[in-house]
Amino acid sequence: MPVFNHPEFDAHEIVAFHHDRHTGLKALIAVHNTRLGPGLGGCRMYPYASDEAALTDVLRLSRGMTYKAALAGLKQGGGKSVIIGDPRVAKTPEMMRAMGRFVETLGGQYVVAEDSGTNVADIHLMAERTRHVGGLADAAATAAGRTGDPSPATALGVFYGIQAAVRHKLGRDDLNGLRVAIQGVGNVGFRLAGHLHAAGAQLWVTDSYAPAVESCIAAYGAHPVVMESIYGLDVDVFAPCALGAILDDASIPQLRAGIVAGAANNQLAAHYHGQALLERGVLYAPDYVINAGGIIDIYYEGANYDWSVVDAHLHRIGDTLARVFERSDAEGLPTGVIADRMAEDIFAA
Ligand code: NAD
Repeated sequence: MPVFNHPEFDAHEIVAFHHDRHTGLKALIAVHNTRLGPGLGGCRMYPYASDEAALTDVLRLSRGMTYKAALAGLKQGGGKSVIIGDPRVAKTPEMMRAMGRFVETLGGQYVVAEDSGTNVADIHLMAERTRHVGGLADAAATAAGRTGDPSPATALGVFYGIQAAVRHKLGRDDLNGLRVAIQGVGNVGFRLAGHLHAAGAQLWVTDSYAPAVESCIAAYGAHPVVMESIYGLDVDVFAPCALGAILDDASIPQLRAGIVAGAANNQLAAHYHGQALLERGVLYAPDYVINAGGIIDIYYEGANYDWSVVDAHLHRIGDTLARVFERSDAEGLPTGVIADRMAEDIFAA
C-alpha cells in the first residue's frame, strides 16, 4: 500500500497507523498541515472494506480540513482520524480510551473531535487519555446551552451563507418570500429550515426518513417533496443537507434554482461539476466554506465560551463567500476553484 505515492497524498505532515491488541483498535491519524495551528478534525469510525480505503479517506479528509480551517479564519490546521470497524458492533469504551492514547502520542499536533460513527460520549472517553480533544463543551459553553453538538452552529453558518448568496445573485438582503428547497432535514437541515422560516422564506423539503419531513411541515409549514423531485423544483435556492456527491451529470441539468447552498460535505460528484454549475449560471457556495460553522463553534468551546463571539465569527462565513463569489465573477472560474486558491494563499503563505 503506497503512502508517499498514494494519489491522495498531498505533502501530509504525519500519517500514523496504530493497532491496540487489547481492544482490537485499528486506527489511522493523518495531519495534513499545521502551519496555522494543530490539525483539528473528527474521528470517523467505519467498516472500511480495506486498509487502503481507510488510508484514502483519512488522507482526503485531513487535507479538506486544512482548507476548511484556513478559509474559516481559524488558527488551526487540518487533521482527521479513522477507526476501522463497525461502530454499531465493534465499538467499546476501552477502544475509545485506546484511541485517546493514540491521539496523545502525537503530542497535540492532532486534535480529535466527533465525526460519523463517533459521538460526544466517545470523545469524553478519549479525553480520559488525552488533552487534545475538541468539541467538548466547557463550563461556559454548557452554561450557554451548548452540548458539543456542532449542528446548530453549522445551520446558522449555512443560513448566513444563503443570505450572502442571495445578496450576490438576486441583489436583495431580505429573504421574505424566498423559495428554498432543502434535501435532508436532519440535525442541520431542520435547524436551517427554522432560520429560513423565521426570515419569511417558503420551504420545500424532502428526506428519506418520513418523520423528519412531518416535523418540518408541522413546525414551519414546509411543502413535502418526493426525493427524486427535489432537484427540478422552481425555487430560488437548493440547499443540499443530506448526502455528498449529489451534484452530478444527472442532477445539474435538472436544477432550476439559481443558487446551490447547503451543509452537505463533498457535494460535487467530480471536480468538473463546479464548471458545469458555472456554465449553467448556478451560483454554488463551496460546501466546505458554507458548512464551517461546526468547526468554528468547536474552536471556541475550549475556554470562556461566548456565543456573541461565535455568532460574529459565523457571520464571517457570509463575508468570505461574498469574496469568493466576486472573484469567481471577475476571473470566470468556478467558486470551488477560487475558494481553494484563497485557502492556499492563507495556509501555504
Ligand atoms: P443527519 O444525519 O442528522 O441528517 C441528514 C438527513 O438526511 C437525515 O434526516 C436523513 O434521513 C436524510 N437523508 C439521507 N439520505 C437522503 C436522501 N437520499 N434524500 C433526502 N434525505 C436524505 O446529518 P446532519 O448532521 O444534519 O448533516 C447533514 C450533512 O451536513 C452531512 O452531509 C454532513 O456531513 C454535513 N455536515 C454536518 C455538520 C454538522 O455540524 N452536523 C457540519 C458540516 C457538514
